[in-house]
Amino acid sequence: MNVVLVVAEHAEGRLNPSTAKSLRCAHALGDTEVDILVLAADATPVAAAAAALAGVRRVLTVERPENREPLAAVLAPQVAALAPGYTHVLGPSTTFGKDLMPRVAALLGVSQISDVMAVEGPYRFRRPIYAGNAVVTVEAPAGKVVVATVRTASFLPADGGGAARIEPVALRVELPAHTRFLSRSAARSDRPDLQTAARVVAGGRALASAENFRLLYGLADALGAAVGASRAAVDAGYVPNDLQVGQTGKIIAPELYVALGISGAIQHLTGIKDARTIVAINQDREAPIFEIADFGLVGDLFQIVPELERLLRSAANPGAS
Ligand SMILES: Cc1cc2nc3c(=O)[nH]c(=O)nc-3n(C[C@H](O)[C@H](O)[C@H](O)COP(=O)(O)OP(=O)(O)OC[C@H]3O[C@@H](n4cnc5c(N)ncnc54)[C@H](O)[C@@H]3O)c2cc1C
Repeated sequence: MNVVLVVAEHAEGRLNPSTAKSLRCAHALGDTEVDILVLAADATPVAAAAAALAGVRRVLTVERPENREPLAAVLAPQVAALAPGYTHVLGPSTTFGKDLMPRVAALLGVSQISDVMAVEGPYRFRRPIYAGNAVVTVEAPAGKVVVATVRTASFLPADGGGAARIEPVALRVELPAHTRFLSRSAARSDRPDLQTAARVVAGGRALASAENFRLLYGLADALGAAVGASRAAVDAGYVPNDLQVGQTGKIIAPELYVALGISGAIQHLTGIKDARTIVAINQDREAPIFEIADFGLVGDLFQIVPELERLLRSAANPGAS
Protein backbone atom coordinates (compact mmCIF):
# COMPACT_ATOMS: atom_id res chain seq x y z
CA MET A 1 0.00 0.00 0.00
CA ASN A 2 1.35 3.45 -0.96
CA VAL A 3 0.68 6.31 1.39
CA VAL A 4 1.04 9.59 -0.46
CA LEU A 5 1.29 13.17 0.73
CA VAL A 6 0.29 15.74 -1.89
CA VAL A 7 1.38 19.29 -1.14
CA ALA A 8 -1.42 21.71 -2.04
CA GLU A 9 -0.67 24.76 -4.16
CA HIS A 10 -2.90 27.71 -3.41
CA ALA A 11 -3.08 31.49 -3.49
CA GLU A 12 -5.51 34.03 -2.08
CA GLY A 13 -7.62 31.32 -0.48
CA ARG A 14 -8.08 29.33 -3.68
CA LEU A 15 -6.78 25.86 -4.39
CA ASN A 16 -4.78 25.75 -7.61
CA PRO A 17 -5.97 23.09 -10.13
CA SER A 18 -2.40 21.70 -10.09
CA THR A 19 -3.29 20.01 -6.78
CA ALA A 20 -6.14 17.99 -8.31
CA LYS A 21 -3.76 16.94 -11.11
CA SER A 22 -1.09 15.86 -8.62
CA LEU A 23 -3.82 13.89 -6.85
CA ARG A 24 -4.68 12.11 -10.11
CA CYS A 25 -0.99 11.17 -10.42
CA ALA A 26 -1.02 9.86 -6.83
CA HIS A 27 -4.01 7.63 -7.65
CA ALA A 28 -2.10 6.26 -10.66
CA LEU A 29 0.39 4.69 -8.21
CA GLY A 30 -2.12 1.90 -7.58
CA ASP A 31 -3.22 0.80 -4.15
CA THR A 32 -2.92 4.18 -2.47
CA GLU A 33 -4.10 6.32 0.42
CA VAL A 34 -3.67 10.04 -0.20
CA ASP A 35 -3.46 12.94 2.24
CA ILE A 36 -3.33 16.54 1.04
CA LEU A 37 -1.23 19.00 3.01
CA VAL A 38 -2.31 22.64 3.19
CA LEU A 39 0.30 25.02 4.60
CA ALA A 40 -1.28 28.44 5.14
CA ALA A 41 -1.92 31.22 7.63
CA ASP A 42 -5.64 30.49 7.32
CA ALA A 43 -6.19 27.12 5.67
CA THR A 44 -10.00 27.02 5.91
CA PRO A 45 -11.15 27.72 2.32
CA VAL A 46 -8.31 25.82 0.69
CA ALA A 47 -8.74 22.80 2.97
CA ALA A 48 -12.47 22.73 2.19
CA ALA A 49 -11.73 22.72 -1.55
CA ALA A 50 -9.11 19.98 -1.12
CA ALA A 51 -11.48 17.88 1.00
CA ALA A 52 -14.05 17.99 -1.81
CA LEU A 53 -11.70 16.18 -4.20
CA ALA A 54 -12.46 12.50 -4.71
CA GLY A 55 -10.11 9.88 -3.28
CA VAL A 56 -8.57 11.85 -0.42
CA ARG A 57 -8.20 10.21 3.00
CA ARG A 58 -7.42 13.34 5.03
CA VAL A 59 -6.59 16.98 4.48
CA LEU A 60 -3.86 18.01 6.91
CA THR A 61 -3.63 21.70 7.71
CA VAL A 62 -0.67 23.51 9.24
CA GLU A 63 -1.71 27.05 10.08
CA ARG A 64 0.91 29.53 11.14
CA PRO A 65 1.56 33.17 10.22
CA GLU A 66 4.87 32.27 8.56
CA ASN A 67 2.89 30.26 5.98
CA ARG A 68 1.08 33.35 4.69
CA GLU A 69 3.40 33.50 1.68
CA PRO A 70 4.61 30.38 -0.15
CA LEU A 71 8.31 30.71 0.65
CA ALA A 72 10.01 27.43 -0.24
CA ALA A 73 12.64 27.89 2.47
CA VAL A 74 9.91 28.15 5.12
CA LEU A 75 7.53 25.48 3.79
CA ALA A 76 10.13 22.81 3.00
CA PRO A 77 11.09 21.90 6.61
CA GLN A 78 7.40 21.50 7.46
CA VAL A 79 6.78 19.17 4.52
CA ALA A 80 9.94 17.22 5.37
CA ALA A 81 8.83 16.88 9.00
CA LEU A 82 5.59 15.26 7.87
CA ALA A 83 7.22 12.99 5.26
CA PRO A 84 8.05 10.04 7.58
CA GLY A 85 5.11 7.69 7.36
CA TYR A 86 4.58 8.40 3.68
CA THR A 87 5.94 6.41 0.75
CA HIS A 88 5.66 9.38 -1.64
CA VAL A 89 5.55 13.17 -1.36
CA LEU A 90 4.19 14.83 -4.50
CA GLY A 91 3.99 18.45 -5.59
CA PRO A 92 3.09 20.02 -8.93
CA SER A 93 5.77 20.84 -11.47
CA THR A 94 4.69 24.48 -11.46
CA THR A 95 6.74 27.47 -10.30
CA PHE A 96 5.53 26.70 -6.75
CA GLY A 97 6.48 23.02 -6.84
CA LYS A 98 9.73 23.52 -8.71
CA ASP A 99 10.77 25.93 -5.98
CA LEU A 100 9.63 23.84 -3.03
CA MET A 101 10.11 20.15 -3.81
CA PRO A 102 13.88 20.09 -4.42
CA ARG A 103 14.33 21.56 -0.94
CA VAL A 104 12.08 18.87 0.50
CA ALA A 105 14.09 16.19 -1.31
CA ALA A 106 17.37 17.68 -0.07
CA LEU A 107 16.14 17.80 3.52
CA LEU A 108 15.11 14.14 3.27
CA GLY A 109 18.39 13.15 1.61
CA VAL A 110 16.78 11.71 -1.53
CA SER A 111 16.95 12.55 -5.23
CA GLN A 112 13.87 14.23 -6.64
CA ILE A 113 12.04 12.70 -9.60
CA SER A 114 11.07 15.70 -11.72
CA ASP A 115 8.22 16.17 -14.18
CA VAL A 116 6.48 12.82 -13.81
CA MET A 117 4.38 12.43 -16.97
CA ALA A 118 3.28 8.81 -16.46
CA VAL A 119 3.34 6.27 -13.67
CA GLU A 120 4.50 2.74 -14.54
CA GLY A 121 4.58 1.48 -10.97
CA PRO A 122 4.99 2.84 -7.45
CA TYR A 123 8.71 3.40 -8.09
CA ARG A 124 8.84 3.61 -11.90
CA PHE A 125 8.00 6.80 -13.73
CA ARG A 126 8.26 8.32 -17.19
CA ARG A 127 9.55 11.84 -17.58
CA PRO A 128 10.63 14.05 -20.50
CA ILE A 129 14.29 14.92 -21.09
CA TYR A 130 16.18 17.00 -23.68
CA ALA A 131 13.43 19.64 -23.79
CA GLY A 132 10.81 16.98 -24.33
CA ASN A 133 12.61 15.37 -27.29
CA ALA A 134 12.94 12.08 -25.46
CA VAL A 135 11.09 10.33 -22.70
CA VAL A 136 13.04 8.39 -20.12
CA THR A 137 11.84 5.76 -17.65
CA VAL A 138 13.33 6.26 -14.20
CA GLU A 139 13.20 4.06 -11.13
CA ALA A 140 13.43 5.35 -7.58
CA PRO A 141 14.85 3.10 -4.88
CA ALA A 142 12.09 1.27 -3.00
CA GLY A 143 12.28 1.68 0.75
CA LYS A 144 13.03 5.39 0.57
CA VAL A 145 10.44 8.14 0.37
CA VAL A 146 9.88 9.23 -3.24
CA VAL A 147 9.83 13.00 -3.68
CA ALA A 148 8.47 13.94 -7.09
CA THR A 149 7.02 16.79 -9.08
CA VAL A 150 4.06 16.08 -11.35
CA ARG A 151 3.92 17.43 -14.91
CA THR A 152 0.44 18.91 -14.65
CA ALA A 153 -0.08 19.00 -18.43
CA SER A 154 0.05 15.18 -18.39
CA PHE A 155 -2.74 14.54 -15.87
CA LEU A 156 -6.42 15.43 -15.80
CA PRO A 157 -7.64 16.87 -12.51
CA ALA A 158 -9.04 14.36 -10.00
CA ASP A 159 -12.84 14.37 -9.81
CA GLY A 160 -14.81 16.25 -7.18
CA GLY A 161 -17.49 14.81 -4.92
CA GLY A 162 -15.19 13.83 -2.05
CA ALA A 163 -15.68 14.54 1.64
CA ALA A 164 -12.31 13.95 3.29
CA ARG A 165 -11.86 14.81 6.94
CA ILE A 166 -9.80 17.90 7.73
CA GLU A 167 -7.21 17.52 10.50
CA PRO A 168 -5.17 20.41 11.90
CA VAL A 169 -1.58 19.40 12.63
CA ALA A 170 0.65 21.11 15.20
CA LEU A 171 4.22 20.85 13.94
CA ARG A 172 7.20 21.62 16.08
CA VAL A 173 9.59 22.66 13.36
CA GLU A 174 12.13 25.39 13.62
CA LEU A 175 11.78 27.62 10.59
CA PRO A 176 14.73 29.35 8.95
CA ALA A 177 15.09 33.09 9.50
CA HIS A 178 17.42 33.64 6.55
CA THR A 179 14.56 34.04 4.08
CA ARG A 180 11.81 36.56 4.66
CA PHE A 181 8.93 37.79 2.55
CA LEU A 182 9.38 41.44 1.60
CA SER A 183 6.90 42.20 -1.14
CA ARG A 184 5.20 40.75 -4.17
CA SER A 185 5.17 42.39 -7.55
CA ALA A 186 2.87 40.52 -9.87
CA ALA A 187 1.17 41.67 -13.01
CA ARG A 188 -2.57 41.91 -12.32
CA SER A 189 -4.76 40.80 -15.14
CA ASP A 190 -8.43 40.13 -15.67
CA ARG A 191 -7.51 37.58 -18.32
CA PRO A 192 -7.53 33.84 -17.58
CA ASP A 193 -4.45 32.40 -15.89
CA LEU A 194 -1.93 31.21 -18.48
CA GLN A 195 -1.13 27.96 -16.68
CA THR A 196 -4.73 26.77 -16.48
CA ALA A 197 -6.54 28.58 -19.35
CA ALA A 198 -8.52 26.57 -21.89
CA ARG A 199 -7.43 28.96 -24.65
CA VAL A 200 -4.13 30.75 -25.08
CA VAL A 201 -3.03 33.33 -27.65
CA ALA A 202 0.75 33.72 -27.74
CA GLY A 203 3.03 36.09 -29.58
CA GLY A 204 6.66 35.96 -30.61
CA ARG A 205 9.50 38.16 -31.74
CA ALA A 206 7.48 39.14 -34.82
CA LEU A 207 5.32 41.45 -32.70
CA ALA A 208 8.42 43.67 -32.52
CA SER A 209 7.32 45.91 -29.63
CA ALA A 210 5.30 46.02 -26.42
CA GLU A 211 2.90 48.36 -28.17
CA ASN A 212 2.29 45.94 -31.05
CA PHE A 213 1.58 43.20 -28.50
CA ARG A 214 -1.73 45.00 -27.79
CA LEU A 215 -2.94 43.61 -31.09
CA LEU A 216 -2.73 40.20 -29.55
CA TYR A 217 -4.60 41.25 -26.37
CA GLY A 218 -7.60 42.22 -28.53
CA LEU A 219 -7.71 38.77 -30.12
CA ALA A 220 -7.20 37.09 -26.72
CA ASP A 221 -10.12 39.05 -25.28
CA ALA A 222 -12.35 38.16 -28.22
CA LEU A 223 -11.54 34.47 -27.59
CA GLY A 224 -11.66 34.68 -23.78
CA ALA A 225 -8.05 33.48 -23.85
CA ALA A 226 -4.95 33.92 -21.70
CA VAL A 227 -1.90 35.57 -23.22
CA GLY A 228 1.46 33.85 -23.61
CA ALA A 229 4.74 34.65 -25.33
CA SER A 230 7.91 33.12 -26.69
CA ARG A 231 11.14 33.68 -24.86
CA ALA A 232 12.32 36.00 -27.63
CA ALA A 233 9.33 38.26 -26.96
CA VAL A 234 10.00 38.16 -23.22
CA ASP A 235 13.73 38.80 -23.61
CA ALA A 236 12.97 41.77 -25.86
CA GLY A 237 10.81 43.23 -23.10
CA TYR A 238 7.49 43.13 -24.95
CA VAL A 239 5.82 41.27 -22.05
CA PRO A 240 6.77 40.20 -18.51
CA ASN A 241 8.52 36.87 -18.10
CA ASP A 242 5.60 35.20 -16.31
CA LEU A 243 3.99 34.96 -19.77
CA GLN A 244 6.80 32.84 -21.21
CA VAL A 245 5.74 29.46 -22.58
CA GLY A 246 8.26 26.68 -23.05
CA GLN A 247 11.11 24.75 -21.55
CA THR A 248 12.20 27.57 -19.29
CA GLY A 249 8.72 29.07 -19.02
CA LYS A 250 5.32 27.52 -18.45
CA ILE A 251 4.29 24.07 -19.67
CA ILE A 252 0.65 24.36 -20.65
CA ALA A 253 -2.08 22.12 -22.04
CA PRO A 254 -4.90 24.34 -23.33
CA GLU A 255 -7.70 23.21 -25.62
CA LEU A 256 -6.62 25.88 -28.13
CA TYR A 257 -3.19 27.45 -28.61
CA VAL A 258 -2.81 30.25 -31.16
CA ALA A 259 0.83 31.03 -32.02
CA LEU A 260 1.36 34.39 -33.69
CA GLY A 261 4.77 35.08 -35.25
CA ILE A 262 6.41 32.26 -33.32
CA SER A 263 8.88 30.13 -35.28
CA GLY A 264 8.39 26.93 -33.25
CA ALA A 265 11.82 26.42 -31.69
CA ILE A 266 12.03 23.10 -29.85
CA GLN A 267 12.27 24.88 -26.49
CA HIS A 268 8.97 26.63 -27.22
CA LEU A 269 7.23 23.48 -28.48
CA THR A 270 8.10 21.71 -25.23
CA GLY A 271 5.66 24.02 -23.51
CA ILE A 272 2.71 23.28 -25.82
CA LYS A 273 3.12 19.57 -26.64
CA ASP A 274 -0.11 18.73 -24.82
CA ALA A 275 -2.22 21.51 -26.36
CA ARG A 276 -5.31 19.95 -27.97
CA THR A 277 -5.47 22.19 -31.08
CA ILE A 278 -2.63 24.42 -32.31
CA VAL A 279 -3.24 27.26 -34.75
CA ALA A 280 -0.19 29.02 -36.19
CA ILE A 281 0.07 32.26 -38.12
CA ASN A 282 3.47 32.87 -39.66
CA GLN A 283 4.66 34.53 -42.83
CA ASP A 284 7.33 31.85 -43.37
CA ARG A 285 5.68 28.70 -44.75
CA GLU A 286 8.80 26.72 -43.75
CA ALA A 287 8.54 27.72 -40.08
CA PRO A 288 8.80 24.61 -37.84
CA ILE A 289 5.63 25.60 -35.97
CA PHE A 290 3.65 24.40 -39.01
CA GLU A 291 4.94 20.86 -38.46
CA ILE A 292 2.94 20.53 -35.28
CA ALA A 293 0.09 22.98 -36.03
CA ASP A 294 -3.37 21.56 -36.67
CA PHE A 295 -4.27 24.69 -38.63
CA GLY A 296 -1.79 27.05 -40.24
CA LEU A 297 -2.16 30.43 -41.91
CA VAL A 298 0.76 31.72 -43.97
CA GLY A 299 0.71 35.49 -43.95
CA ASP A 300 1.39 38.73 -42.15
CA LEU A 301 -0.04 38.62 -38.63
CA PHE A 302 -0.49 42.39 -38.63
CA GLN A 303 -3.07 41.96 -41.39
CA ILE A 304 -4.60 38.67 -40.28
CA VAL A 305 -5.07 39.28 -36.56
CA PRO A 306 -7.28 42.42 -36.74
CA GLU A 307 -9.44 40.71 -39.36
CA LEU A 308 -9.71 37.58 -37.20
CA GLU A 309 -10.69 39.65 -34.18
CA ARG A 310 -13.32 41.49 -36.21
CA LEU A 311 -14.81 38.20 -37.45
CA LEU A 312 -14.88 36.73 -33.94
CA ARG A 313 -16.56 39.78 -32.48
CA SER A 314 -19.17 39.98 -35.20
CA ALA A 315 -19.88 36.24 -34.86
CA ALA A 316 -20.36 36.75 -31.11
CA ASN A 317 -22.55 39.80 -31.64
CA PRO A 318 -24.18 39.47 -35.08
CA GLY A 319 -26.46 42.51 -34.74
CA ALA A 320 -23.64 44.96 -33.99
CA SER A 321 -22.22 45.41 -37.49
C1 LIG B 1 18.19 26.68 -22.86
C2 LIG B 1 17.15 27.40 -23.69
C3 LIG B 1 15.87 27.52 -23.17
C4 LIG B 1 14.89 28.17 -23.91
N1 LIG B 1 13.63 28.26 -23.41
C5 LIG B 1 12.66 28.80 -24.17
C6 LIG B 1 11.31 28.85 -23.71
O1 LIG B 1 10.97 28.43 -22.60
N2 LIG B 1 10.38 29.38 -24.52
C7 LIG B 1 10.69 29.88 -25.78
O2 LIG B 1 9.77 30.35 -26.46
N3 LIG B 1 11.95 29.88 -26.21
C8 LIG B 1 12.94 29.36 -25.45
N4 LIG B 1 14.22 29.39 -25.91
C9 LIG B 1 14.52 30.17 -27.12
C10 LIG B 1 14.20 29.47 -28.43
O3 LIG B 1 15.30 28.69 -28.83
C11 LIG B 1 13.88 30.48 -29.54
O4 LIG B 1 14.97 31.37 -29.67
C12 LIG B 1 12.62 31.30 -29.29
O5 LIG B 1 11.54 30.44 -28.96
C13 LIG B 1 12.29 32.09 -30.55
O6 LIG B 1 11.19 32.92 -30.32
P1 LIG B 1 10.27 33.38 -31.53
O7 LIG B 1 9.66 32.20 -32.19
O8 LIG B 1 9.35 34.43 -31.00
O9 LIG B 1 11.30 34.14 -32.46
P2 LIG B 1 11.91 33.75 -33.88
O10 LIG B 1 12.53 32.39 -33.84
O11 LIG B 1 12.75 34.88 -34.29
O12 LIG B 1 10.65 33.63 -34.82
C14 LIG B 1 9.86 34.71 -35.21
C15 LIG B 1 8.88 34.19 -36.25
O13 LIG B 1 7.99 35.22 -36.60
C16 LIG B 1 7.72 35.11 -38.00
N5 LIG B 1 7.30 36.44 -38.46
C17 LIG B 1 8.04 37.58 -38.55
N6 LIG B 1 7.27 38.61 -38.92
C18 LIG B 1 6.00 38.12 -39.06
C19 LIG B 1 4.76 38.70 -39.44
N7 LIG B 1 4.65 40.01 -39.72
N8 LIG B 1 3.68 37.91 -39.49
C20 LIG B 1 3.75 36.56 -39.22
N9 LIG B 1 4.92 35.97 -38.87
C21 LIG B 1 6.03 36.74 -38.79
C22 LIG B 1 9.03 34.65 -38.61
O14 LIG B 1 8.80 34.01 -39.86
C23 LIG B 1 9.55 33.70 -37.54
O15 LIG B 1 9.13 32.36 -37.78
C24 LIG B 1 15.22 28.74 -25.17
C25 LIG B 1 16.52 28.62 -25.67
C26 LIG B 1 17.47 27.96 -24.93
C27 LIG B 1 18.86 27.80 -25.50
